Amino acid sequence: MSAPANSVTLIGSKGGPAIYPGVPRMPTSTLVRLGGQSVVIDCGLGVTRGLVDAGMALRDLAAVIVTHLHSDHYLEFGPLMHTAWTAGLKRPVAVFGPVGLAACWQAFVESMAFDITTRMADEGRPDLAALVRLEAMDEGLFARIGDVRVSGLLNRHPPITESYALKLAAGGKVVVLSGDTAPFDSLADFARGADLLIHEAMIGEGIDRLVARVGNGDRLGQHLRASHTEARDVGRLAARADVKALALNHLIPVDDPAIGSGDWERAVRAGGYEGLLHVGEDGVVIGI
Ligand SMILES: [Zn+2]
Ligand SMILES: [Zn+2]
Repeated sequence: MSAPANSVTLIGSKGGPAIYPGVPRMPTSTLVRLGGQSVVIDCGLGVTRGLVDAGMALRDLAAVIVTHLHSDHYLEFGPLMHTAWTAGLKRPVAVFGPVGLAACWQAFVESMAFDITTRMADEGRPDLAALVRLEAMDEGLFARIGDVRVSGLLNRHPPITESYALKLAAGGKVVVLSGDTAPFDSLADFARGADLLIHEAMIGEGIDRLVARVGNGDRLGQHLRASHTEARDVGRLAARADVKALALNHLIPVDDPAIGSGDWERAVRAGGYEGLLHVGEDGVVIGI
């Protein structure tokens, strides 16, 4: 399979960590191909399979960014690195993430010590621990991955404070990802004129039914409303930011038969956005 030189593949398009029978969507991860680089954003469950299905050879993995430490964004970080290692990865991968990601990685390597030391001795593989080069994220320009400049903006995702929106820019093309966030004003400036804005989205009417289904009552509903963005507000933001295209990801809910792709589109249009819209599905490739 070949993707356009500059493209985004939505690897996992659902919000939250749970997966359901009959729902093909997996938790969040995104592959951004820009300026000759492939950057993996978030590592939700299914990221490894999804990258391979998107045509990426795991031994070529070079850069990973984790936006925040909710499990639907990093549960499969360790397994992705380990599988890339068994697929022939030899060069260190630049990994950017919140402070706690280092402890997660260290604990993963320790939990797999038997397998890792066995394969190093028995198969002549390099030390897996040395293949991750963890680097800090920050607001403003915090990384250059080849020709790709990566900037961060702290978003609004209580109770987590270290949670980022991201902007990747190269060769005159700009991709912005909202990360998980409630609406906040400065995101419109951050995303202004982007070739593609990938924004999380939920449909409010589905939240009450979702809360009733999963059975942990009002707490989950309160979290979702305080920490995420309704599709109508995404439409408002995309119109204000004058982005050239909008993709919805991190969809909540995804297991409500009463909500279909037309509902997502109607909600975004009600917010005033009239441009190109992609309602995220796993594996969809969007040219930039
Ligand atoms: Zn999430
Ligand atoms: Zn989150």
